[in-house]
Amino acid sequence: MDRPLLNRRLAEFGTTIFAEMSALAVRTGSINLGQGFPDADGPEEVREAAVRALRDGRGNQYPPGPGIPELRTAVAAHQERFYGHRGLSYDPDTEVLVTAGATEAIAAALLALLEPGDEVIALEPYYDSYAACIAMAGGRRVPVTLRPDPEAGAYRLDLDELRDAVTDRTRLILLNTPHNPTGTVLSPEELTEIARLAVERDLLVITDEVYEHLVFEGAHLPLASFPGMRERTVTIGSAGKTFSFTGWKVGWATAPPELINAVRSAKQFLTYVSAGPFQYAVAEALALPDDYFTGLRDDLRAKRDVLAHGLSEAGFRVYRPSGTYFITTDIRPLGHDDGFAFCRALPERAGVVAIPNAVFYDHKEVGAPFVRFAFCKSPEVLQEAADRLKRL
Ligand SMILES: *Cc1c(COP(=O)(O)O)cnc(C)c1O
Repeated sequence: MDRPLLNRRLAEFGTTIFAEMSALAVRTGSINLGQGFPDADGPEEVREAAVRALRDGRGNQYPPGPGIPELRTAVAAHQERFYGHRGLSYDPDTEVLVTAGATEAIAAALLALLEPGDEVIALEPYYDSYAACIAMAGGRRVPVTLRPDPEAGAYRLDLDELRDAVTDRTRLILLNTPHNPTGTVLSPEELTEIARLAVERDLLVITDEVYEHLVFEGAHLPLASFPGMRERTVTIGSAGKTFSFTGWKVGWATAPPELINAVRSAKQFLTYVSAGPFQYAVAEALALPDDYFTGLRDDLRAKRDVLAHGLSEAGFRVYRPSGTYFITTDIRPLGHDDGFAFCRALPERAGVVAIPNAVFYDHKEVGAPFVRFAFCKSPEVLQEAADRLKRL
């Protein structure tokens, strides 16, 4: 048995940093601004809807493979309500697939659409499941690095770098906007260029838009609503981030029938189905009035401002996010340049836990001096974290 147990595809991934940092938070009694989960649950009426479904025996046995019709209809109605003015709509019967969170939608899409050796372009730094799922699907990841612009206090996509990354082996672009961890919201111009490139080179696109309702300036523009994109794009959403129920693991993909069929082929052998009663509850959540969605955004914008202010006061260089619930900071003004060492020491030094952005990079050296803080926490917790960080 001298052969390693973990196979070569997964060997490089180890345990996620979130496990280590969350354990550190517990051990040191620190405020955990590492992993991105809200410290308050979503709307009471949505929780009640889940309880009702459980009690009434709806969803306690295997729901239909593509998702319950009520939820597929609600997802289609949500897309129509928010993006119909951009000409985007989906048929609930053939163009919507319910998944075990966005995570499964991403995994199933990659497993379904890639042949071994296909190249996948992803914006670096990237969400931690992307690299592992591309690897499990036998694909090759090709990072295109978002570059920090300290003047603008924001990250930028270099469209030339993106264009140069496309080769004859490129099968798809895996996009994420609003972007975790940098908080970047791709501009209409950037999305237009990405769409033009995808059409020109005949690429598929998987676009992870789980933060679609957390855009603080301007509006969210689904990539699928750009010319030539609907037919080649799998769009992914999730109830976890939009309704603050990250433990329910209800997500969805919308795409034309051929793409949905492909994704479903992989999905049916991953979980087959999941979250029966929660599917009924999320169907109700998606029909909440507009002021729920604007309220969520306004609430998180105010929280962003509290934490961003505190981090600046403490001496970090802050990249103020235009979306998501994460702030990326540069620790060099504090006299540090190794985010790993900084985050491992931070709980003892200041009683706060953060995540080193290097974990989200292939080019670790580029991400080394950056650290991510989550602000989906109560204003009191954020203020306390800000006060603690001033000790630095
Ligand atoms: C949280 C997150 C996900 C995972 O969503 P789930 O619905 O919990 O599986 C996917 N992509 C990004 C960018 C995220 O931040």
